[in-house]
Amino acid sequence: MTAPTPREGILDIKPYVPGKSGDDDDTRPVIKLSSNESALGPSRHAIEAAKAAAETMVRYPDGSSTELREAIGKRWDLDPDRIICGCGSDELLESLPQVYTTVGDEVLYSQYGFAVYPIATRAAGATPVTAPEGDYRTDVDAMLAAVTERTKLVFLANPNNPTGSYTPADEVRRLRDGLPGHVLLVIDSAYAEFVSRDDYSDGAELVHDSDNTVMTRTFSKIYSLAGLRIGWLYGPANVIDAMNRVRAPFNVNSIALAAATAAIADEDHVVRAREHNDGWLPRLTQSLRGMGLIVHDSVVNFLLVRFPGGADQAQAAERYLAERRIFVRNLNAYGIPDGLRINIGLDHEMAALTDALGAFMEQS
Ligand SMILES: *Cc1c(COP(=O)(O)O)cnc(C)c1O
Repeated sequence: MTAPTPREGILDIKPYVPGKSGDDDDTRPVIKLSSNESALGPSRHAIEAAKAAAETMVRYPDGSSTELREAIGKRWDLDPDRIICGCGSDELLESLPQVYTTVGDEVLYSQYGFAVYPIATRAAGATPVTAPEGDYRTDVDAMLAAVTERTKLVFLANPNNPTGSYTPADEVRRLRDGLPGHVLLVIDSAYAEFVSRDDYSDGAELVHDSDNTVMTRTFSKIYSLAGLRIGWLYGPANVIDAMNRVRAPFNVNSIALAAATAAIADEDHVVRAREHNDGWLPRLTQSLRGMGLIVHDSVVNFLLVRFPGGADQAQAAERYLAERRIFVRNLNAYGIPDGLRINIGLDHEMAALTDALGAFMEQS
C-alpha cells in the first residue's frame, strides 16, 4: 500500500445524487421539478445586485459577511454576532460534525432525514444513527430512544425534505428537553418561509437562551438563490466562535452576499412566492390524489407522492415524465423506492405535470 488512504468513513459515503435537470443531447425545454427551488425565481433586485457586484470581483469579499448578517439580524430580529453565513447552508451542516464529533461518536437523525446528514457525519469520521419514522414524519420518542452515550449531535430538518412533513414546535421543544445538555441539536429550517401553520416554529426561540441548539436557514429555497450558494446559521456565541475558527476565511462570495442582502429587502417578492405556493399546494395535492396516488400532507413547496403500484410504477412514472422533459426526483437514495418528490412550479408547468401524470396513471 503506497497510495494515500482517506480517513475512516470517507469511502463509506454514498455521493449525493442531485435532482435531474435534463440531458445534453435534447434541447427541448425542460420542466425541472426535482430540486425544490422556488417556482417564481429570484427577486429582480437580487439579480441586479448580483450583476453590480460582479463588477468588483477582483476584490476578496468581506470574510465576515458583516452587511448580510446585519440585514438578517434586522429581518428576523436576531443578534448578528450570533449568525454565521455559509456557502449554502450545506457548508454549515457539513461543518458542525467536523467541529463537534470525532471517530466513534454518533450523529442521530430521522429515518428519512435530509441526505446531507449522513454525508456530513461520515466526512467527520462519526457514525450515522437513524430513528424510525411512523407515517413519514419525525417521531420524537423514537429519536430520544436512539440516543446513546456516544450521541454528540442531532439533525432535525423541520420541515423535512423529502417527506414535506413538519414537527410541531412543542414536539421540537420536547426533543431538546429530552436530549442531554452536551448534545448539539441542529434545527434545519430550510423551508421555514413556506410554512403557514400556527403550531410551527423555525426554532429560533430554542436558540435564544441555549448553548447547545442551532438553527440553519438558506437563500436557496424561497429566495431562489440556489446557484449562488448562500445560507446562514443562528446559534449560541460558543458555537459561532468554534465554527468561525474552522470555516474558510472567505467562504461566501461577494456576488452571493450582495444578492442575498438585496433579496431580504424585497419582502414583496417573498410574499408573492409564498402566495403562489399556497395556491398550488392544496390544488396539486387534490389533483394527484384524484389520480389514485398516495400524496402525503405537505407544508412546503414539494410533495412526497407514492405509487400504489410500488417501486416499478414509480420508476415507470419517472421515465414517462422524463420522456416529456419533466424532471422529478426519485427517492431510491432515501429508501422510498415507491415514491417521487415533485416540487411546485409555475402554472404552465403544473398543468403539464398533471396532464402527463394523469395520462400515465390511466394507462398503467
Ligand atoms: C435544500 C435544503 C437545504 C439547503 O441547502 P443549501 O446548501 O442552503 O442550498 C438544507 N436543508 C434541507 C433539508 C434542504 O432541503
